[in-house]
Amino acid sequence: MLTRTFCGKMCGASCGIIVTTENDRIVKVEGDPDYPPTKGFFCVKGKAITELIYHPERLIKPLRRIGPRGSGEWEEITTDEAVSHIANKLRKVIEEHGSESIAFHMGANRNDLIGEFMQRLGKTIGTPNFATVDNVCSKARSLADKFTFGQKCFPDINQPSECLVVWGRNTLDTGGESRMDIIRQAKEHGTKILVIDPRETSMTRIAHQWVKPRPGSDGYLGIALLKTIVEEGLYDREFVEKYTIGFDKLHEMLEGYSFEELERETWISIDDMKKFARTYATSKPAVIQTGNPLDQTPNSYQSCRLISILRAVTGNLDVPGGEVVANGVPFLNIKDVEDRSKRLMIGSEFKVAASLGLAPSQDVLRASYTSDPYPIKASLIFGSNPLMTYANTEGVHKAIMGLDFIATAEFFMTPTAKYSDIILPVAANHEYDDFSPKFGHIVARPKIIDPQGECRADIQWMNLIAKELGLKGFWDSPKEAFDEILEPAGLTYEELVENGPVWAPQKYMKYIDEGFKTASGKVEIYSETLKEMGVPPIPEMVEQITSTDDYPLVMTSGKDSYYYHSSWRKLPTLRRLSKEPLVEMNRETAEKYRLVEGEMAYIETTEGRITQKVKLNESLDPKIIFVAHGWWFPEREDLGWKESNDNVLTKWDGPKCQAMGAVTLRGIPCKIYPV
Ligand code: SF4
Repeated sequence: MLTRTFCGKMCGASCGIIVTTENDRIVKVEGDPDYPPTKGFFCVKGKAITELIYHPERLIKPLRRIGPRGSGEWEEITTDEAVSHIANKLRKVIEEHGSESIAFHMGANRNDLIGEFMQRLGKTIGTPNFATVDNVCSKARSLADKFTFGQKCFPDINQPSECLVVWGRNTLDTGGESRMDIIRQAKEHGTKILVIDPRETSMTRIAHQWVKPRPGSDGYLGIALLKTIVEEGLYDREFVEKYTIGFDKLHEMLEGYSFEELERETWISIDDMKKFARTYATSKPAVIQTGNPLDQTPNSYQSCRLISILRAVTGNLDVPGGEVVANGVPFLNIKDVEDRSKRLMIGSEFKVAASLGLAPSQDVLRASYTSDPYPIKASLIFGSNPLMTYANTEGVHKAIMGLDFIATAEFFMTPTAKYSDIILPVAANHEYDDFSPKFGHIVARPKIIDPQGECRADIQWMNLIAKELGLKGFWDSPKEAFDEILEPAGLTYEELVENGPVWAPQKYMKYIDEGFKTASGKVEIYSETLKEMGVPPIPEMVEQITSTDDYPLVMTSGKDSYYYHSSWRKLPTLRRLSKEPLVEMNRETAEKYRLVEGEMAYIETTEGRITQKVKLNESLDPKIIFVAHGWWFPEREDLGWKESNDNVLTKWDGPKCQAMGAVTLRGIPCKIYPV
């Protein structure tokens, strides 16, 4: 049987695929040439889905810890036992410490509704502590758009642009389908492609101009681009006059910087910054695609605000081929339920993140052993591996050991799952009915095969826990939930499956009639709302020290295109393609620090030391090293979670983004030496 559907779970995108099944077993998966955004594209991660589903070591039964935490001693239990055990533990925490002492953790977006179900469950239980990777991934960018012009914007996929800026993102290798169509369209149209990245990637190879900033200096680059555009009069005067407020204050701020200072901060020559700005500002329409390095510095929110302002003053907002402000298919936002919490979210002083209910993970974790501002006693973890993906591995470990109870929903025995009390086995793509809310359209990923063993979707586990706790407003099956969610769109889940994706009609320049969804109705270059929240109303930079005498090199890191953060090291095809963690550096750096390609090196920061294998990469500035992200070794008994894990090197404290609570993950002082 052939089923047209979408890839999911393997990354944050949803490529169109065709799945062939025989006797309730998937025998073939291929790209769907008739799905317009992806036209048959299907990456190696997506192809590995059958290795995930049929992996002999996949967790397919709920497990309960029977030895000391982390000992790896388990007993298999039934679904009913697992759910009742979790509910009893949560009731005990609520009775003894209050519902806010329960925290939820979620990992990187998988283009589904896990986060929405989780926030619904959290609010209904009565806890605001929803700690995800969002504070250091994606939300600084969307909240910068929101506080500048009211809504997140996206590059238009219906019309080509004349200029595409790709800022800190390797769209071709790690972007997934959701942005791939933009690149294809750009290449076909002859769009000028400008790339910002300290390291050579597939994107930089197709760039018309490529600039290499110092990791962590994006905000200064944003200032340099705006300074050129404003001082040379390359902005859209009519748009700025009619539709923005605070342009004069922006001008004042830009005058406070000299190009020489911006060159020193960014390591990009004045000529290159000006050339970049002129191409972007004079090629209409133009779009900027961004990646998560922007979210991971003390200046993350302000850097993203500068990008939102760039989009606006160049007149690219909501125009064909420009940055379209979301037209979505309407559906029920299930996280909009009564919040029964009585105490404030931990980390609520980071007000921009708090406006979306995003608790900084480091503050939530730390409360398990400091009880500050109140204790966290239980964690429910879905689609996340905090020991690998959160900053400060040692701190995360200490926090985990301080919790009374941890339940983790997982595919495999990961480092974090190993420290849990209960492990819930998770259903993979095609084993349950799923739904993907995408920009501009919605798609269904229907169940095709029965799940392995006792596996259930994350959202099914959440519904079971909610029902066991006697909470109202939850569902017996994903299909039932999706029918309700889809009601505002006027269709049922079955209809979405049968009829295929539903696309929202595209309407441009909505601001002419409707204004922008900000307090003033205009683009807020200067934001009084942010000022009231204690956040600088015009972007300001704070100092970020990226090297010191003891740690002379600048560390940055990045995702491996064969994995999704820390996921999939257990899948044989992907592991064959990327066997081990590689630390990349210029030959000059290697020679200076007596390092040899192919041999192991210690990488050290003030926080700790790890080992990775040396790989030469001439594209990197000799002052930078590029460390592989998310590495653990599932084949080892201890799972090797400390050895090469880049987060052993990162920390919770030090300068943080005051809007988002984001810790610093890019531009960290480090040193390197042979093992
Ligand atoms: S890019 Fe993501 S969604 Fe697309 S095929 Fe690869 S893993 Fe699947």
